[in-house]
Amino acid sequence: KKVIIVGGVAGGASAAARLRRLDEEAHIIMFERDEYISFANCGLPYYIGDTITDRSKLIVQTPEAMIQRFNLDIRTKSEVIAVHPERKTVTVRSVEKGTYEESYDALILSPGAAPIRPALPGIDHPQIHTVRNIPDTDRIKKQVISPETKTAVVVGGGYIGVEMAENLKEAGLEVTMVQSADQLLGTFDREMSNIMAQEMEQQGVELLFQDTVESFKDTNGKVTLTLRSGRVLTSGLVILAVGVKPDTGFLKDSGIALGSRGHIQVNTALETNIPNIYAVGDAVEIHEDGAVTAIPLAGPANKQGRIAADRVAGLKTTYKGGHGTSIIKVFQLTGAQTGLTEKKLKELDTDYHTVYVHPNAHAAYYPGATPMTIKLLFDPQGVILGAQAVGRIGVDKRIDDIATVLHFGGTVTDLTELDLAYAPPFSSAKDPVNMLGYVAE
Ligand code: FAD
Repeated sequence: KKVIIVGGVAGGASAAARLRRLDEEAHIIMFERDEYISFANCGLPYYIGDTITDRSKLIVQTPEAMIQRFNLDIRTKSEVIAVHPERKTVTVRSVEKGTYEESYDALILSPGAAPIRPALPGIDHPQIHTVRNIPDTDRIKKQVISPETKTAVVVGGGYIGVEMAENLKEAGLEVTMVQSADQLLGTFDREMSNIMAQEMEQQGVELLFQDTVESFKDTNGKVTLTLRSGRVLTSGLVILAVGVKPDTGFLKDSGIALGSRGHIQVNTALETNIPNIYAVGDAVEIHEDGAVTAIPLAGPANKQGRIAADRVAGLKTTYKGGHGTSIIKVFQLTGAQTGLTEKKLKELDTDYHTVYVHPNAHAAYYPGATPMTIKLLFDPQGVILGAQAVGRIGVDKRIDDIATVLHFGGTVTDLTELDLAYAPPFSSAKDPVNMLGYVAE
């Protein structure tokens, strides 16, 4: 059996490794447009901020190591530019081998999502960067360490924008963030994200809300940004982090069904509308019972890669869906969330209840205790709909506990009943998650 995988990072590399474990004989070809496969996208901002100091640690697997370990046919600097389902082939444009066609019995697509570059005047200035891969990171790092670079402007206050702002600040630059919405991090409700915005301001990041860039222009090698408010900023380094879009341009004539924003449409078996073609990761939207979800995060991409490989190997695994559970470090704080926000519930016009608690992360009498804020959303029957938490320590495990209960359709009573690990350095006899349940009941 000959299996082609398009994309060699989160979803693609997971699919390749899993497939090899399930099928020792298959000829597995992985095409990757870039030079690197299986790198730590999520670690890139922390290398720019110098928390990760060793660049080689970002490269989780080299093609050589992966070829040796999994007996794969990995072809880097090879872009798949078209898919031809009628003859079961793909067209490949390779830096070394030119353009050729390769046939498949099964095809797994994991091309990911590309940063959005809005069509604004001056957007092609060389000092304006997006952050997706190692070459982007090398370019940004070079500029960050140049003594000429003293300031940076980050456009966009989502996860990547906030992580970049923190890391550029840590690297010693003066940082201004331009955010079109009236809050950061849209997966949180405003009062929760405001706690993180305050932390950013206290750490010296200037935040400009409800403003957008109208144009860029060159000023002696630097970039001048003109904002809608009329404000003008000039900086040697601009990071553009205004969202991502599925990297699926090469599929437009393939007959593979795409959604309105270019996502590949798949079912819970990760099958596209065309037999033997599967798709996973940031590039897909999953259709189930009339609902559509697209979550551009590493956890879903890895899980889906594994499931697509199972399917190719004949196993009947399905993707059970996700709740968009996510987490971010904002200087000294951690913010994490799972499920629906209050904003979203209002949009859906459904009945819900909200509670907040402000417990200490561990017993107050044990040194280092700090409070956190947890917000819980649940329906009139007590079924958990979503939760958000912000604090210095212990936020991650509380949201993971609630995400687990949410996954199993649990209620606020389940939160009171959870039997959680306790000793004073770690928690309280009534864990914050139990407390949340008591208050909600
Ligand atoms: P990718 O990992 O993007 O891989 C797709 C690969 O396919 C790319 O290497 C691309 O070059 C290649 N490709 C595309 N088209 C073609 C083609 N036609 N031919 C050949 N190759 C092609 N997620 C989290 O959950 N937590 C985090 O903390 C987090 N931090 C992040 C920080 C940054 C800076 C970035 C950029 C992303 C972050 N993410 C995070 C998101 C996470 O990295 C993605 O969800 C995940 O990598 C998606 O996996 P994927 O396989 O769909 O796509």
